[in-house]
Amino acid sequence: KNHLSDRINSMSTSATLAMAAKARELKNEGKDIIGLSLGEPDFNIPEFIKEAAKEAIDQNYSSYSPVDGYADLKEAIANKFKRDNGLTYGPSQIVVSTGAKQSLANVAMVMLNHGDEVILPAPYWVSYSDIVKLAEGVPVEVPTSIDTDFKMTPAQLENAITPKTKMIWFSSPCNPSGSVYSKEELEGLAAVLRKHPNIFIVSDEIYEHINFKGNHVSIANVEGMYDRTVTVNGVSKAFAMTGWRIGYIGAPEWIAKACNKFQGQITSGANAIAQRATIAALNAPVSSIKFMIDEFHKRRDIVLELLGEIEGFNLNVPEGAFYVFPDISSFFGKTLNGTTINNASDFSLYLLEKANVATVTGEAFGNENCIRISYAASEKELREAIARIKAVL
Ligand code: PLP
Repeated sequence: KNHLSDRINSMSTSATLAMAAKARELKNEGKDIIGLSLGEPDFNIPEFIKEAAKEAIDQNYSSYSPVDGYADLKEAIANKFKRDNGLTYGPSQIVVSTGAKQSLANVAMVMLNHGDEVILPAPYWVSYSDIVKLAEGVPVEVPTSIDTDFKMTPAQLENAITPKTKMIWFSSPCNPSGSVYSKEELEGLAAVLRKHPNIFIVSDEIYEHINFKGNHVSIANVEGMYDRTVTVNGVSKAFAMTGWRIGYIGAPEWIAKACNKFQGQITSGANAIAQRATIAALNAPVSSIKFMIDEFHKRRDIVLELLGEIEGFNLNVPEGAFYVFPDISSFFGKTLNGTTINNASDFSLYLLEKANVATVTGEAFGNENCIRISYAASEKELREAIARIKAVL
């Protein structure tokens, strides 16, 4: 008998982390694996942030912090929201957590009751669906395709809404598609939501700076949306601080208070040293990370060009984040070097086994026709990986 809870038994393992583990295993066996499965910037943390962390240790920031974060960190976050997003959030509207992943889990746990529906435009970030289910919510996937640049239209949103709809969760720039919603597109969605005042929004903006097109737009800034939007962000992607585990929200005060209460029973708050370092990160001008964004932009263009040379890859042009999400369904039903490819998982595994390149199946993100390739890797690795992929196809 399995003595574990139904809760954990029904949860899927994070597909991105599973792929990374598998790639690591093969690497340990001596295989020359190129890992393009993780959403992790391959840069070092900028020096000034490391210095702030060292100072914090020396200044004995070793006690519990306030559950929702240090007051001066919340002030830095408020200034950041104002500076980058034109959003006004006071300290009582901000909660600092152990990564944006925990911020999302907090929101799910305080907002959802059993059976509440959460609309997820698919492809969506891998964890949304399981976080929602953990909170007894019901994920309602709205499939999009490469034909609409993987974005949900207002009509699709309207059709997905039922009396049970409680929330909509999405990321822009999107992981995994790299798509960025324009102001007009967000206004289109907001026009539908204005007719449904009891639907709340989670706007995951963790890739906001990694945007090659122009200005990032926060849906909380669109008319009527501020009072029902939780804006989620963090330092993992913009500052290459994935392992430091700091994320945060700006939200209506009643939601922030509930998250604070919840977190008080679960973690007691985020790591003190990482919080101090985050103050330095957020207070720095955005120009201090422009080098990373320029580098991602360059790599995106290289990856698109090289993948575009492979017959059977159907590509959109991602405008942000650091992923491409090619539609590879033209390979379904084909047999390559003795392996039959029936779906995106088969394709991704085939690339791992035959080309020694780790990618992630689109099925993990609610899309069966695509795979995700992260270009948070060096140009040399990317060129080598794509050459190998081409060779085995
Ligand atoms: N949201 C999206 C869209 C992500 O891609 C990620 C990380 O991959 C997260 C949230 C979680 O970030 P954090 O490291 O802050 O938990």
